[in-house]
Amino acid sequence: MTPVRSWHLAQAILRANLNRSPHPYKLTFMVTRRCNSRCLQCTIWKQSDPPDPLTLDEIETFFRRNPRFSWIDITGGEPFLRPDLSELIAILLRHSPRLYHLHLPSNAVAPALTIQRIQEILALDPPRLSLTLSLDGTPEQHDILRGVSGNWRNALEIYRHFERHPDPRLQLYFGFTLSDRNVGTLTATMEAVRRQLPHTHWRHWHLNLAHHSAHYYQNENTTLRSASNRPAFLEELTTLHARKRTRSPDPVAFLERRYLAIARRFIAGQHHPMPCLALSSSLFLDPDGTCLPCSIWDRPVGGLREHEFQLSRLLAAAPARQARQEILSARCPGCWTPCDAYPTILGNLLPTIHGSSS
Ligand code: SF4
Ligand code: SF4
Repeated sequence: MTPVRSWHLAQAILRANLNRSPHPYKLTFMVTRRCNSRCLQCTIWKQSDPPDPLTLDEIETFFRRNPRFSWIDITGGEPFLRPDLSELIAILLRHSPRLYHLHLPSNAVAPALTIQRIQEILALDPPRLSLTLSLDGTPEQHDILRGVSGNWRNALEIYRHFERHPDPRLQLYFGFTLSDRNVGTLTATMEAVRRQLPHTHWRHWHLNLAHHSAHYYQNENTTLRSASNRPAFLEELTTLHARKRTRSPDPVAFLERRYLAIARRFIAGQHHPMPCLALSSSLFLDPDGTCLPCSIWDRPVGGLREHEFQLSRLLAAAPARQARQEILSARCPGCWTPCDAYPTILGNLLPTIHGSSS
């Protein structure tokens, strides 16, 4: 990791705090809608890729013309199902000299494929790579929620592989998506993992609150967080927040604790717990080049093709400016999902420093 990359990220965060972001520094790129899972609370697996997805040449043009991302989440569907994933990553690495952090999630349905692709990506020498393996419950419960028999075992197989073959650039996490279906089982899930992987710790867990999204999960008709379960949600968040208490100066640990602290306000009914920085610090990109503020709000603000792959043009056009105004006045649906909440937390550090605590 070069100090220059850290410096660029710090600079972008400072600018966000001063309300002077010239461009988003965090990109969430959905590289495919294909998914080999059968989750109960997300219908991406029932969808197919758009008829005219971005080609690799177009993706290269995009990153070449927008070389200022410090943080990129590659997501899906299951991103590892893209046969050209390594080529795509090679392109973004080639044209992102400021990249500090590259993150991919995996549903772990095809462990050999995930392991192979991660090895290919490591061979490309990314600065800092993290892999989050979805794990939403105890073994039986997780396999039911994900609709795939043996899925829990496969997630642990991937983790175990990289524990045996560690790489200092790779960080492994388990991702627990908290919903009505698994609230109250977080501790049991972690203990079940620990019985098989004794070196795992609370810090190896990311928590995400289940959300509705019309354009992404397409799960508006699914009940995810009932009001009657609110006390149980708050208890889970409080437990994890307390367990993640640390004196470590690790910025990831800080972000996670702050996310959990504010998630309690969100669950208690505050749908916009902080001024959101979507379209300012962060951006969501669909497989066909459509840009949206985030994974939650179904509000396309333009296509890369119609703006010659220049984000500055797309964000300066009326749809993006209008959407940004609506975000500023809390007229979007509101959410607290880590992909979008982390840059919002980082861009609201000054009020934190000056007053509120977690
Ligand atoms: S939650 Fe993830 S693994 Fe499950 S269907 Fe949606 S994209 Fe696939
Ligand atoms: S608050 Fe949530 S839904 Fe609204 S724009 Fe920000 S990330 Fe999207």
